[in-house]
Amino acid sequence: MTYKAPIEDIVFALKDIARLDRLAGNSFEDFDLDLVDPILEEAGKLASEVLAPLNQTGDAQGAQLTGQGVVAPLGFADAYRAFADGGWMGLAAPVKWGGQGLPKVLANAVLELFHGANMSFGLCPMLSLGAIEALVAHGHEAEQAKYLPKLVSGEWTGTMNLTEPQAGSDVGALKTKAVPKGDGSYSITGQKIYITWGDHDMAENIIHLVLARLPDAPEGSRGISLFVVPKLMVNDDGSLGAPNGVQCIGLEKKIGIHASPTCVMEYDGATGWLVGEENKGLACMFTMMNSARLNVGLEGVGVGEAAYQAAYAYAQERKQGKAEGVDGPAPILHHADVRRTLTTMRAHVMAARSICYACGVAADLAETSDDEDTRSAAQLREELLTPIAKAWSTDIGVEMASLGVQIHGGMGFMNETLAAQLYRDARIAPIYEGTNGIQAIDLVGRKLAMAGGKAMDDMISEVRDTAKTARESNDPQLVQIADRLKAATDALSEATSWMAETIRSDKEKGLSGATAYLKLAGDVIGGHFLTKGALATRADGSAMRGRMTALAGFFAETALAESPGRVSGITRSGDAFLAESEALFGVT
Ligand SMILES: Cc1cc2nc3c(=O)[nH]c(=O)nc-3n(C[C@H](O)[C@H](O)[C@H](O)COP(=O)(O)OP(=O)(O)OC[C@H]3O[C@@H](n4cnc5c(N)ncnc54)[C@H](O)[C@@H]3O)c2cc1C
Repeated sequence: MTYKAPIEDIVFALKDIARLDRLAGNSFEDFDLDLVDPILEEAGKLASEVLAPLNQTGDAQGAQLTGQGVVAPLGFADAYRAFADGGWMGLAAPVKWGGQGLPKVLANAVLELFHGANMSFGLCPMLSLGAIEALVAHGHEAEQAKYLPKLVSGEWTGTMNLTEPQAGSDVGALKTKAVPKGDGSYSITGQKIYITWGDHDMAENIIHLVLARLPDAPEGSRGISLFVVPKLMVNDDGSLGAPNGVQCIGLEKKIGIHASPTCVMEYDGATGWLVGEENKGLACMFTMMNSARLNVGLEGVGVGEAAYQAAYAYAQERKQGKAEGVDGPAPILHHADVRRTLTTMRAHVMAARSICYACGVAADLAETSDDEDTRSAAQLREELLTPIAKAWSTDIGVEMASLGVQIHGGMGFMNETLAAQLYRDARIAPIYEGTNGIQAIDLVGRKLAMAGGKAMDDMISEVRDTAKTARESNDPQLVQIADRLKAATDALSEATSWMAETIRSDKEKGLSGATAYLKLAGDVIGGHFLTKGALATRADGSAMRGRMTALAGFFAETALAESPGRVSGITRSGDAFLAESEALFGVT
């Protein structure tokens, strides 16, 4: 089984659902919609011909810590060279630093392909992207000039070092120290854990972005600063110098993403340079958090897609039982329950993909539109959709990978199947880059309050418009979808009013419904985008029309039909357990 890049679905989600055309012209002078297909086709070749064949071998072999540092699984270094030589790292990076200056949403789409083909590999460029964005937005000129060209070319890779044993979701609890050396540099000492691709042999240097605390820094998150710390020192002429005081001292043993080294990093008086201002490290991290969260959401989409493809292929081959019209044992694809499961996977993956690309287009517009009103509306949309893109899509990734295992029957429980690996790999995405619980808190605690509630109000109005257009089409299938979408939107509207009020008056009660609220919002917004997809194809007779109408219709009769029933899980489930926390858990 090999991964086939789902170019047609991605292009459709980008152009017809997320309205990528809004970026052409003003925002990106050199961007032309005609570039999208060839770029994705080339990336698709790398994904399916180079990265996918290494997915299961990389999982079986894993990254290894040796006396010479971390060694990536066989074939990964060559694949990384092909990736860097193809210029993929610089697709959306500024032209000034050697990038191509294209929309970031295109880089997001390329990453979806890499994650689908080989999530462990995709993590390496994803982390480099974070380092590039931090340096572009906040780096001082000398550090930008020193590190950005090599990061953008892919010759060097980047990492993000936030987590410490006592500082996970609560980043402000970190203890790593940064002491000024008096020559403009800092001496960094401390231990970071769970650092993705913290060490490896695929590139000649690794540039670590590290959060640390100055000697007189205020307590908590207001006292953390961001530093750039190279693995090998870089001389003024750009040549590589001596090793810096940082090394990987251990690799975590994990349930998935075995080929991606998750490192314990020891900083022992390593030399680093400040990025941004002292004690403003968290603000620097926030700049790139939205894009990192979106890219993790796309891991859910990529792995969900790969799980669908593996399940579909298996369902064509595996024969069990009888089916009408088939002589002898029938491929399980002929059983309605199997096709139902495959449709569930396909609909949810397409819904998650659409949410992610709508978020990506909004992010690009917010950054680059010439029009101020467009920029501020897009910024609200990006802020609203980011926690949903991250959390809803990664939950979907896990659920769809689980359904993929189910379609394989007992074979899905065997270590050698790709379905089993995808299920294990998918499980990390709801955890890192802000757990999905933290995303839900962000959605109800910050995003609903933004601009007096305008972000969600505008989103809900847009969903209502889509339902109205579907109803007015007079196409019986679309009218049926419109009814479900309208009832689901009423449910979201009711839950939103309750949440916006309760989070102010009784925060704990509001937070008790946060995860359930994010789930409802993702379902409704996902259903809205699928309906838009069905509407976009209604005039043509293409295969895409049949697919989108089927997926939107199925999603409407399942996820959207359940939406009204989800409201009490948001507004009333807290009543059931909050007052009984003593009886249930021994806490008040
Ligand atoms: C494979 C892997 C790769 C990683 N890569 C990196 C990396 O490259 N760089 C890096 O810096 N870190 C990385 N991490 C760390 C990752 O970001 C953290 O694991 C994550 O932020 C959660 O922190 P924690 O593990 O300490 O969990 P905790 O913060 O202890 O959370 C445990 C549970 O409590 C909940 N919780 C915590 N606080 C709250 C709260 N205030 N309100 C409600 N619920 C709460 C969480 O939602 C979660 O369910 C990686 C982790 C893994 C496993």
